[in-house]
Amino acid sequence: MVEDISVADFEKDALAFLEHNLEPRVEVQQRWGEGSDQVTLLPERTLEEELEELARARAWAQKRFDAGFGWVTGPVQYGGRQLSRDHQRAYEAAEARFAAPPMTAYGIGLGMVAPTILAHATDEVKERYLRSMWRGDIVACQLFSEPSAGSDLASLQTKAVRDGDEWVVTGQKVWTSGAHLSDIGEILCRTDPEAPKHKGLTGFVVDMHAPGVDIRPLRQLTGGASFNEVFFTEVRIPDSHRLGDVNGGWTVALTTLMNERAAIGGGMAGTSGGNMSTQRLIDLVRHQGKEHDPLVRQQVADIVINGRVASYTTLRSMAKIAAGQLPGPEMSIAKLSLTMNMRRMGDLLTTVLGPKLVADSGEWGTYAWSQFILGIPGMRVAGGTDEILHNIIGERVLGLPKEPAPAKEPAAG
Ligand SMILES: Cc1cc2nc3c(=O)[nH]c(=O)nc-3n(C[C@H](O)[C@H](O)[C@H](O)COP(=O)(O)OP(=O)(O)OC[C@H]3O[C@@H](n4cnc5c(N)ncnc54)[C@H](O)[C@@H]3O)c2cc1C
Repeated sequence: MVEDISVADFEKDALAFLEHNLEPRVEVQQRWGEGSDQVTLLPERTLEEELEELARARAWAQKRFDAGFGWVTGPVQYGGRQLSRDHQRAYEAAEARFAAPPMTAYGIGLGMVAPTILAHATDEVKERYLRSMWRGDIVACQLFSEPSAGSDLASLQTKAVRDGDEWVVTGQKVWTSGAHLSDIGEILCRTDPEAPKHKGLTGFVVDMHAPGVDIRPLRQLTGGASFNEVFFTEVRIPDSHRLGDVNGGWTVALTTLMNERAAIGGGMAGTSGGNMSTQRLIDLVRHQGKEHDPLVRQQVADIVINGRVASYTTLRSMAKIAAGQLPGPEMSIAKLSLTMNMRRMGDLLTTVLGPKLVADSGEWGTYAWSQFILGIPGMRVAGGTDEILHNIIGERVLGLPKEPAPAKEPAAG
């Protein structure tokens, strides 16, 4: 039964719950030279720190779900409250006023995998996983990319072969964020090697603890190891865990990818990204004595203006989703405007800090920016590279002719 509760009454209940369970968020005005000077885009933590953070996040997710605030818009039959997006927004705004633990480990599962399960999975799989995903009991990852299939995802080679009521999966995935913390994964496999590449793929939900799954961490250039390569050796998946139709995996993948762009653009809307703020950038310029340099001032103004543009573009596309429409190429524009602004920030930092970015002199708030700069290439690749997003905008928004296909190899002999 769907409840009839006004947004105002719902918000009152939410505030009572939050006040009882969390401390209010205290905005600490960061002063130059005080506290940590780390500025990062990707979290850089040890496995122990990740597990500690996950335990705190899980305890909070379970408490929130059990109190009826975990999945506000979700269908009642899978554990949601089936309330409106206005109720959801009211809860998010209320929770933002309190010191809730970071929910990083759940980002991909709830932002991308859960909406795909809801749209394409069998009732059995929805019953089995959606409640526990939203309650924080389990973590999910996205197993799409392979060593020879990233931008050209449809050329992936991990194969799934039907064997009665099961599928047998063999192959390798790579860059799988959070696989080492995950209980399930959304995997895309080739099920018909003879069909054109987009038409021979099928999606599944795979148990990451199943025999034959081997997860190996990859260390990124910023130091942490938040993603992995994952090997599958004859891993068995029940047919009930198939997402959508056999060989209909491309439609399933598009649901996930659109939600990915929305999650990246929405999570980092605006000037910044990671734990960077415009104020921090301006403070840096001042403390390096460059605040009167006309070129530097122009660069800062450009970043602020483009940050606003990125933020409004993201809000526009989020509004489209909120109105129940499918996210379209706007998401590509939103993500691209964010990463283009990160490049501008990288250029400004290089102008202002010069060699201090590469040699650690111990001076507060200088070398620490190198972590931010080293994180930018990853942001320009994850969720669709800048070049691919340019192609999407050129072809689908501006209506330009399609990119020519690569020239065929001359026939041997
Ligand atoms: C931080 C991070 C987290 C990630 N997490 C996940 C995850 O959880 N799960 C997952 O499945 N994957 C994940 N990925 C992988 C990501 O989806 C791929 O890296 C991305 O799709 C690009 O693929 P690739 O690395 O194979 O590069 P390639 O596709 O090989 O591209 C190499 C270069 O060629 C350019 N290029 C390729 N094709 C074209 C073209 N047609 N026109 C113009 N230029 C082109 C690209 O822009 C790029 O500069 C993650 C990546 C990063 C950086």
